[in-house]
Amino acid sequence: MLTLAEAQTKIFSGLKRAAETETLPLNMVSGRFLAQDVSAIVANPAFDNSAMDGYALHTADLNPDAAVLPLQGEASCGMSPDELGPGTTMRIFTGAPVPRGADAVEIQENVTVENTKVVFQEAVSVNQNIRRQGEDFVEGQLLYKKGKQLLPMDLGLLASAGIAELKVFRKPRVLVIATGNELIKPGHVLKPGQIYESNKLVTLLQLQALGMDAVDGGTVRDDPQALHERMAASKEYDFVVTSGGVSVGDHDLVKQVFSSLGSIDLWRVKIKPGKPVAFGLIGDKTHFFALPGNPVSSLVTFKLFVEPALYGWHHAKHLQLELNAIASNNFQRRAGRMEFLRARLFTDNGVLKAEALPGQGSHMLGTIRYTNGLIRVGEECDGFNSGDSVSVIPLHLGIGG
Ligand code: AMP
Ligand code: MG
Repeated sequence: MLTLAEAQTKIFSGLKRAAETETLPLNMVSGRFLAQDVSAIVANPAFDNSAMDGYALHTADLNPDAAVLPLQGEASCGMSPDELGPGTTMRIFTGAPVPRGADAVEIQENVTVENTKVVFQEAVSVNQNIRRQGEDFVEGQLLYKKGKQLLPMDLGLLASAGIAELKVFRKPRVLVIATGNELIKPGHVLKPGQIYESNKLVTLLQLQALGMDAVDGGTVRDDPQALHERMAASKEYDFVVTSGGVSVGDHDLVKQVFSSLGSIDLWRVKIKPGKPVAFGLIGDKTHFFALPGNPVSSLVTFKLFVEPALYGWHHAKHLQLELNAIASNNFQRRAGRMEFLRARLFTDNGVLKAEALPGQGSHMLGTIRYTNGLIRVGEECDGFNSGDSVSVIPLHLGIGG
């Protein structure tokens, strides 16, 4: 059985990468992945401008005995001010171009204005309160490399750099299929032995949240013929994610059907939850992830395998942030597999703490209510005590509740 790192490496080396692109305006590309390097068309700041409301001056004009300059003209936003006359000062506002001839701006709180004269109360140094052209980035500077996922704040930066549209990779089409005779949709009364389908729902929504083009492939019974038909239709997709039927039971047919359609690169990983997971290719472009049916296994394997693969497909690096936290309770277990515990992360006097939640069975979804992270327990570790240092992976932090 492969370790987590071996499995992730194997998936990465088997990945096909996006090739098709589309060019879209900035307001359409939030969450999308760049298919080009991007350089600034204009510098930021685009011109020398004032950081404050105040008075522009040439510092050498100030005389310690009589720091008074006549007021002449005004520089406000969106205009091009006249040159500063020798020995004068000019009214200026935040963001307005600094007039030629000025080398500093004094804030209005530090002067008194008497009729048409401005009295400077303190020494003013060269460059004070001037935001210099290009001090953030210069024209032509490389800002982003191919593969970057664009966040709203990135688009603010790109707009300020004069970019109007961007070449991004097209979204991958991801088909999600649930398998199991017992699964029905909520809204119907359960018959004996039935349960409500939840994995496909969660997977589709997670994919949408990641900006993917997620398609509901329905629920298929544990029947080789039916599974084969549904999975054979998957060739036009970039990814297929199935749930359930990938373990060793008599009705676990997904792997078997999958191997008749494509090549399996890996099956079973030494992790808990989520041991029975399979990955491979159908044809030359369809990645296939068979995730286990237990709802928590489905969540964890999505996070550990599918999410990084989607980033990889987009030529992006997936940043799996892992932090040290202090355990706030004890947890004992039998060593052997790397384990991911649902945890509540919180700060206590500035210290990051992690509580291993009760109810860690891979069928138990109740703990999800309090989960905002995972504690990663190493293969050889047999648990931890309150106060010990543990590794945590934050999930959706900053969400209110
Ligand atoms: P399996 O991986 O098919 O052996 O399923 C493992 C467990 O997960 C069983 O208890 C299934 O009933 C349950 N399960 C499988 N698929 C789903 C699903 N889509 N939604 C909720 N539970 C599921
Ligand atoms: Mg099943």
